[in-house]
Parts: sequence; C-alpha cells; structure tokens
Amino acid sequence: MSPIENILFVIIFTGAIVFFLKNVFRLVATICLGRPENRFDHLWSRAGAMLAYGFGQLRVIKEKFGFNHFLLFWGFMTLALVNFEFLLAGIFPRFSLDFLWNPLYGLLMFAADIMSLVVLGCVVVAVVRRTFFRPAHIDPTPDAYFILSLVAGLMIAFFGMGACEAQLGVLETASWMPVTKMLSGFVGEGAHTWARIWWWIHAVILLFFLNYLPYSKHLHVLTAIPNCFFRSQNLVSTVPRLKFKKNEEFGVSQVVQFRWSDLLDFMACTECGRCQAACPAANTDKTLNPKEVIHQGKVNLFTNSKSIFANRPADMLAPAPRGCTMAQKLINGNDESVAVDAIWDCTTCGACMQVCPVFIEHAPKIVQMRQHLVMEKSEFPEELILLFENSEQRSNPWGIAPTDRMKWSVDLDVPVLSDDGRKADYLFYVGCAGAFDSRARKITVAMTEILNASGLSWGVLGTEELCCGDSLRRLGNEYVFEEMAKKNIAVFQKYGIKKVITICPHCYTTLKNDYTQFGVDFDVVHHTELINDLIKQGKIKPKSTLSGKTVFHDSCYLGRYNNIYKQPREILKSCSGGAAPAEMDRCGENSFCCGAGGGRMWMEEFGDKKIYLERAKEAIRLHPETVAVACPYCMTMFEDGIKDAKASDTVVIKDVAEIVAESLK
Ligand code: SF4
Ligand code: SF4
Repeated sequence: MSPIENILFVIIFTGAIVFFLKNVFRLVATICLGRPENRFDHLWSRAGAMLAYGFGQLRVIKEKFGFNHFLLFWGFMTLALVNFEFLLAGIFPRFSLDFLWNPLYGLLMFAADIMSLVVLGCVVVAVVRRTFFRPAHIDPTPDAYFILSLVAGLMIAFFGMGACEAQLGVLETASWMPVTKMLSGFVGEGAHTWARIWWWIHAVILLFFLNYLPYSKHLHVLTAIPNCFFRSQNLVSTVPRLKFKKNEEFGVSQVVQFRWSDLLDFMACTECGRCQAACPAANTDKTLNPKEVIHQGKVNLFTNSKSIFANRPADMLAPAPRGCTMAQKLINGNDESVAVDAIWDCTTCGACMQVCPVFIEHAPKIVQMRQHLVMEKSEFPEELILLFENSEQRSNPWGIAPTDRMKWSVDLDVPVLSDDGRKADYLFYVGCAGAFDSRARKITVAMTEILNASGLSWGVLGTEELCCGDSLRRLGNEYVFEEMAKKNIAVFQKYGIKKVITICPHCYTTLKNDYTQFGVDFDVVHHTELINDLIKQGKIKPKSTLSGKTVFHDSCYLGRYNNIYKQPREILKSCSGGAAPAEMDRCGENSFCCGAGGGRMWMEEFGDKKIYLERAKEAIRLHPETVAVACPYCMTMFEDGIKDAKASDTVVIKDVAEIVAESLK
C-alpha cells in the first residue's frame, strides 16, 4: 500500500467509523425513549438464550431454508476476524494476525477461504429463492437484493484480492487457501494493479455495508442478538400490570409509551415473515399481519424519534417526556401506523411469538394498544359493550344471574367450600363457560365424575366463584380485570386455597401466569395434567372405550402458553388401547388457533375465510370419528366449525374429560 493510499484509507475509515458509531448511539437513544423495564435479571438464562438462539440460530434453522441463513451468519462471523485484520492493516500496513500460533492463523485463513465460497453459494441460493420460489410471507423488496449484491461483492473482492496477491507471491497463507490459490491461476497481466483495485473495492463495500445497516432491513444484524438476550423470560409473554394512578394515560397510543424492550423488538425484526405465515388472522385474510405491525412500529418510531430529538438532544439516554408531541399517530394514521381493525383481529394465540427467530413479542403490544382504545377512548367493537357490562356487573360474560352459577351441579354430589367452613386439598375452579355454557357444562359434569372417582379431596366455590377476567385482560379492559383479579384472590385467600384445578386453559393461564403479577402464586393444574397423573398413579383406571380415529387439537393457551402437549395425548392413548391420536399438520407448538382466544370468542368474525372453519376443516380432512379438545372455547368453535362444514353426522367433538368419564363407567 502506498503512503497516499494509506492516508486516504485512514481518512475514509475514520469518517466511516465515526458515522457508524454516531448512528449506533442514536439507535440506543431511540430505544431508551421507551418506558423503563428491568430486563437485566436472570443473566445466565439470558446469556444461554443469546448463545442458543442468537449465535446458534436454533429457531432460524427450524425452517428448511433457515440453514442457508445459518451458513451466511457463520460465514460472516468467521470473516469478522479476517475483516478486522484487513481494516487494521489498512491503517497500519504492517499489521497482521500472523502473530497467532502459526497453524491457528493458517486455519483461520483456510476457514475464511472456504466460508467466503459458502457465503457466495448462499447468496446465489437466496437470490434464486427470492426470484423464482418466493413464499407469500416474504416481500419482494429491492433492499434484499441490494444487500445480497453487497455481500456477493464483498466475497468476490476477497477472492480477487487474494488471488492477485497469491499470484504475486505476497500472500503468505496462500497454501492454506485452496479456493484463492486455484483462482490465482487465472490472474493474468497487471496482477499488482488488480490487487489494489480489489483491495479498495473490498474496503469500500465493507465500510459502506457497515453504515448502510442501520438504514436497511438488515438493521437486525446489529439488534437481533441483543433482542435474544433481552427476550421475555415467560413462555409466552403477557402484558405488564398497570398502575392506576390519577393523570396517568393507560395503554399505548404513542410508540414511545411502549417499553424500551418493545422498541428494541421493532428494530430487531428480520422481516422473515414467519409470524405472518403462522398467524391465523393473516391466514384468513384479515387486516392483521403481525409482520406489518412490527414494521409499522419501527417506521413510526423512527419518524417520531426525529421530532423528539429535534426538541431534545439525542445524547440524553432517557425515556421520552410524557405528553410529548408525536409527528405520526401510532393507531389508525397512515402506512406508518397500525390499523384499528388489525388490533381487534388478534386472537393472542402466540403463534407469531412462537416462531419468531428473534423473540419479538407481538401480542402484548397489540393488547396494550387495545388498552388505550378501551380505557382511554371507549372505542371498541360494539359486541364488546355487553360483554364488558356483563362481566363487570355479573362477573360472567353472558350476564346470567350469579346465583345460577351452580345450576350445573343439580343432582350431583359436589362439595362446596363455603358450606360450614368445609376444607379441601383442591379447589375445582369451574370457570364461566363450565358453569353457564350448556355444552361446556357437560365437561364440568364429566370432571366432577372423575374427581369423585379419584378419591381426591376437592371442592368448588359455588356462587362465590367469580370470573377470572381472561377475556377482559386480553381485550384491554385492564381496569375491570384488575378489580376481578383482586376479588378472586381475596376469595381464594379466604378459603386458604393453594391448589386449583381448571378445565379451561384461559382460566388456567390467568390464575397461574397473570395473577402472579398480584404477588400470589397458586399451584394451578389443568384437568389434563391432573387426569394424566391420576391414571399414572392408578387412582382412576379408564377402559378402552374410545374407538375409531381421534384427532387432538392443541389449545393455544394450553400448549404454547403453558407447554402442556403430552398429557392430553397420553390420556387419549389410555382410553384407546394405546393408540395415539392422529395429528393435524399444524399441531403441538405449531397448532393453529380455533379463533376464540384474545376475547375473539365474544366477537363476530367477518370476511369469507373464518379461522374456526379453517381449523375444523383441517381436522375433518383426517376423517376422524372424534375430535378431542381440552378447552371449552375450542369446544364451541369446533362445534360451530363441524356444523358449518356439514360434518356433524360423522364427527363428534369431545373434551378429554368427557372421554375419560365415559371410559370410567
Ligand atoms: S397472537 Fe396470533 S392472532 Fe395475534 S398476531 Fe400473533 S399469530 Fe396473529
Ligand atoms: S416479527 Fe419475527 S417472525 Fe415476524 S417477520 Fe419479524 S423477525 Fe420474522
């Protein structure tokens, strides 16, 4: 390198690094605009997640094409050291990493040589896929092609430079670099000039790439790994508890009202579209597309942060001032904002969060925007008015008289805890569907029979039982949910309840996961967990009464939210002579929602394609005699789906508890 080249590079390098650091600082300042939250707990678990999912790309490689990304990522990681050497050698021409133990340096160059070829191959595969086999959930953005051509340019320049230097005999590690060495055979006249040209192409692309990242869809190169570190520690994240204070604004109507981790989420999105492919709303042509919501959040954040920083320096790493003016609305503005319809389309099924390779939390953001619409604006779908009133006044969604809560138990032997200070080991928390819905009541009765057969000490709260508040919380009516939760907890504490059984995954997750935000920790079991244990312990002995093909549908709030997959399947095997239930393509953690979660149970589903019908048809395609469910909401949706698909004559829907109760007779 000539002295002039050296000076020129130092100037360009310094400018590029200063510009890059300035941008990184601005990004950090933008993230800090969000509301405070402690995500520096559980450091070991966070570091483990970062290694496994950030560096190990565990979620990325779950998809077939993900391995291509894995190779690209590790190609870049390998080349990072070599590029570090390259840049320093541009400033200090004598600098080299050859001070490393000799074979180690050779091995590094060997890895760089091979990985550069691998990365080039991956770029070709990515271009071919995007051009000819592009899945619907990937947008045809020119930005992706531009980035891929920069990556290819970088690799070609690496080989061009190395081949010329090898031909000139100045590349000491040439013997370690088979691809470069082979290419050196093609170098003709002017090897020295070409070596310099390739060197400069490599240098310019590298520094340009670094500075283009913050402005491109590849911002995730900088933010994805931190996002894996700062991911939610809950299996599927729920909303944080609100503090109801005077003059506080509830929910989120401005992007900076999200937590800082949400703002980091917006920047970490890789735009891979996996959330869109998994989302039941997007799959049935609703307005909601989770990828779009995250993208809109990102664009909205960048637009608004500019106006905030215009009035306040970016070097203040602090949350945005409350009540600051926003240049762009977050909800129902233009393309940079989230449509109201999209906010109400969500079933909070968690499928998006389950597949997201960088742990973005879509559902809590949507629920927080619902909180604003419900509590600040009173703007929500009309059919929710009745639900909210009924829940608040009568503590059940239907508005049935609370005195009717025990009507299901007429003629049954049901111990009620409120009678004469009676105590029991387990509270059977029946839930509103189990108490009031005529179909779900049969599940309650079946569960009662199982409990009586098991010899367990159990009881119900009778008319003292209240709604758990699941739908209200998911629909953003946090104030009424808070009141309900407090009242329920007071009743539980009055009777010294420690262990709770539920037949409803929505009650289950609310009592188990949401109520912990109120400082209580009940030992909650879903009936599938309890029944499976009772069978294993020999306390109940089901006979093989389940004949014909059975398909099991995973409830989102049981599976994805609480990792209960194997228990219902084991129970079904016990009732069918060891035959495992048939599985739909979308099962287990990839299960497709029935459409009832997130309060959607109480809302009309518009459009030609219905979530509940899509799921019912998916089950029917397997020609089952029985579709087994483990949730009263799934029961309702499947009953409707089977009816609308005109399959009621051939398929019956049963809860797992009903199947077991029959097998005990
Ligand atoms: S939670 Fe479910 S319905 Fe809501 S955005 Fe995610 S995948 Fe779609
Ligand atoms: S939110 Fe996650 S799954 Fe969805 S496009 Fe972004 S990175 Fe992919």
